[in-house]
Amino acid sequence: MEKLNSKHEALFYRKLSGRRVQCGLCPRRCGIEDGKVGYCGVRKNMDGILYAISYGKAAHMSEEVIETEAVFHFEPGAKILSLGNIGCNLSCVYCQNWTFSQIQHADEDIIFDYTPEQVVQTALERDIKILSWTYNDPVIWIEFVIDTARIARKYGLLNLFKSAMFINPEPLEALMDVMDIFTASIKSVNPGYHRQFTKGWPQPILDAVKQIYKAKRHHLEVSNLVVTGASDKDKDFEEFIQWFKANLDVNVPAHFVCFHPSYQYTKVEKTPLSVVERARQIALKAGLEYPYIGNVFMHEGVNTYCKFCKSLLVERIGLNASKVGLEPDSKMYICKECNAQTPIRIAYKRSEAYEKIEV
Ligand code: SF4
Repeated sequence: MEKLNSKHEALFYRKLSGRRVQCGLCPRRCGIEDGKVGYCGVRKNMDGILYAISYGKAAHMSEEVIETEAVFHFEPGAKILSLGNIGCNLSCVYCQNWTFSQIQHADEDIIFDYTPEQVVQTALERDIKILSWTYNDPVIWIEFVIDTARIARKYGLLNLFKSAMFINPEPLEALMDVMDIFTASIKSVNPGYHRQFTKGWPQPILDAVKQIYKAKRHHLEVSNLVVTGASDKDKDFEEFIQWFKANLDVNVPAHFVCFHPSYQYTKVEKTPLSVVERARQIALKAGLEYPYIGNVFMHEGVNTYCKFCKSLLVERIGLNASKVGLEPDSKMYICKECNAQTPIRIAYKRSEAYEKIEV
């Protein structure tokens, strides 16, 4: 693809003999011959140097709301500027973004050039306070994400990273230095599932989510895509919840998201509401405090209730969030009804971003 031509040297790689290189960004650790690209298609070895050829090449830049990213406990209704790029380090057979995540299907016409400054400028002009790195997987254009996020911070903006988290610990640490919000998509904790449906493997993903959680420097939410015929059984939910309880904590929001048939996985029905309702019930029974359902228009499972007096805090209809029962108070919202602190964070000013966040 001609438009993927950035000569921006990649981070996180090492040189090998004979002008070969090894990329260390994600767990695939591709060994790449001169003139070739890695599995993701956007990291190319040219004369023994690895280049991030998709640097500054955005497939999408659009204004959305934070709920789009399965983030319910951080400034409900906040506007975000979402950006995606080309390629992916996973190959999910049901990918919703396959027309640009799977590079062999991507069309040059959907690729636009941006500098980090232009992205930040766009957000400022539209009065958007949060950049969202999303859509395909933002891991694979980490150089552009980090450069832009650093500039965004200088202008008081926050950064949100939505990802399947198939990434190595060192690059993740670099991302953690510039991110404020992580929304991690754990599709399954089961290796067999990943072999069949994503062509990845779960341990690095689980380790990455733990790494973020343990640092306690970011707002973290986790989602689980409930795919018909792949991850929609009680035992799938139980395994996921068991891992969640053992490695995170019950106050981290968990989103059980309905899937829509797409890409190579179309001969199944979209996730029935009853299935995500069941997942949520299992999670509630297991003690999770904030299990939600996702891709559902209107339901008690998409609202947030006060855990003390049970009154409605946030009503969500589609992607509209109404803070009906919230009162701002310092860094967190409190419940209008009983004055108890809620788990919902007020969008902080940049200067507070490095403070520890109590979930
Ligand atoms: S980021 Fe791309 S090139 Fe690097 S190891 Fe992963 S798939 Fe391979």
